Amino acid sequence: MKRLIIYSVMVIMVSSCVDDVSHEAVNQVQNYFQLFESEAYARGVDLDLEQMNVTAQVEQIEQGNVVGQCKTYSDGSKEIVLDLVYWENATEIEREYLVFHELGHCVLERDHNNERDDNGICISIMQSGTGGCNKRYNELSREVLIDELFE
Ligand SMILES: [Zn+2]
Repeated sequence: MKRLIIYSVMVIMVSSCVDDVSHEAVNQVQNYFQLFESEAYARGVDLDLEQMNVTAQVEQIEQGNVVGQCKTYSDGSKEIVLDLVYWENATEIEREYLVFHELGHCVLERDHNNERDDNGICISIMQSGTGGCNKRYNELSREVLIDELFE
């Protein structure tokens, strides 16, 4: 009986710990939502993601290789779901890319675009990841790619 009690306490501790991590990750995603709005605004596109009912969730995605999804619900609301393990290990620029890509689907209603330039580099953030072009997203290339996103 004593062991059972200890065990259940441990389970509660572990699950609340995961919840904290997930909650913190959602807060981090919100910062990229704001960044998305300001990058849009700088390009003449006025967006209010809260008003558009776009929310974020960060959890373990069971589907292999999937790190992000855009979900649309019947009431018109949208939810971006990001993989917790990927998110925890991603750099800032990788996080920005992932959020912007999913918002490209959810908010800008863009499909995948795997076009590439003469060097085989993806010309769009909306590349599928399996389309054969090479992703290059960094401080130097991001401006042009974000331009393309909002075109
Ligand atoms: Zn996609």
